[in-house]
Amino acid sequence: MEMNDLADAYQRVLERITEAAIRSGRDPSAITLVAVTKTYPAGTILNAYELGMRHFGENRIEELAEKRAIIEQSLGPANDITWHLIGPLQSRKAPLAASHADLFQALDRPKIAQRLARQLQGSGRVLPTLLEINISGEDSKAGLPCHQWETNPQQQTNLLQIVTTLLTLPQLQLHGLMTIAPWHVPIGEVRAVFRRTRNLLQWLQGQFPQINWSTLSMGMTDDFELAIEEGATHVRIGRAIFGQRM
Ligand SMILES: *Cc1c(COP(=O)(O)O)cnc(C)c1O
Repeated sequence: MEMNDLADAYQRVLERITEAAIRSGRDPSAITLVAVTKTYPAGTILNAYELGMRHFGENRIEELAEKRAIIEQSLGPANDITWHLIGPLQSRKAPLAASHADLFQALDRPKIAQRLARQLQGSGRVLPTLLEINISGEDSKAGLPCHQWETNPQQQTNLLQIVTTLLTLPQLQLHGLMTIAPWHVPIGEVRAVFRRTRNLLQWLQGQFPQINWSTLSMGMTDDFELAIEEGATHVRIGRAIFGQRM
C-alpha cells in the first residue's frame, strides 16, 4: 500500500473511532488502536510507525518475533512499540512468547499460563495478559467457553479457576478480557456478544476486586464501532487500515 493511501485509511479509522466514542459519551483517548499487521510485511509496519501507530498485533508468535527483530534493526531495541500477541499460543511456543510479546491477549488455558510463567521467571519479565473468552459459542472460535456464563455454573467455575490460577503466577499480570464477535450474523447479535463480554468483566471485577480489570479488547474492521459503543478499550484493526489481506 502506498504511504498516502495508508495515511488516508489510518486517518479515516481514527475519525471513526473518535465518532463512535463521542456518540457513546466516551473519551476517544481512552481507546487504544491495535493495528493488526498479520500477513503484511515489516516495511508496512515501519510506514505505520512513521504515521504514528505504536501498538501492533500479530496472531502468530513466530511472525511477531520475526517482524519485531526487523523493526528493531531500524528503530533500535528501545523503541516505543507495544507488540500484542492476539492469537492462541501452543505451549511449546511459550518460550518465544515469553521473550517477544509485550502483551498476550489470548490466554485461554491454565496450562499455557503455567508454561508462560515458568519461562518468564528466568528473565524477570512480567507479561500483561488478557483472557480470551468465547461468548458466541461458535466452535471455530478460540477462548474459554463462556456462551452461557450468566447461568451455567460449570462455565463460572472454570472462569473462577483460571483467574485463581493466574493470581498464583505473578509473572502474568491479568488485566482484562478479549473476545471475537461472530461473523455473518445480525448486528444485534454482535452487539449482544460485546455487551455480555462487558458484563462478564464487571462480574469478574466483583469476584476479584484485587485485580485491575481495566482492559476490554473487542472490535475488528467489521464491528469496531459497535464494540466502542459497548465499552471496548482496545480495538484490533487490520483490513480497514492496511487493505485486504492476501
Ligand atoms: C486478524 C485479527 C484481527 C483484525 O481483523 P480485521 O478484520 O483485519 O480488522 C483482530 N483480532 C484478531 C484476533 C485477529 O486474528
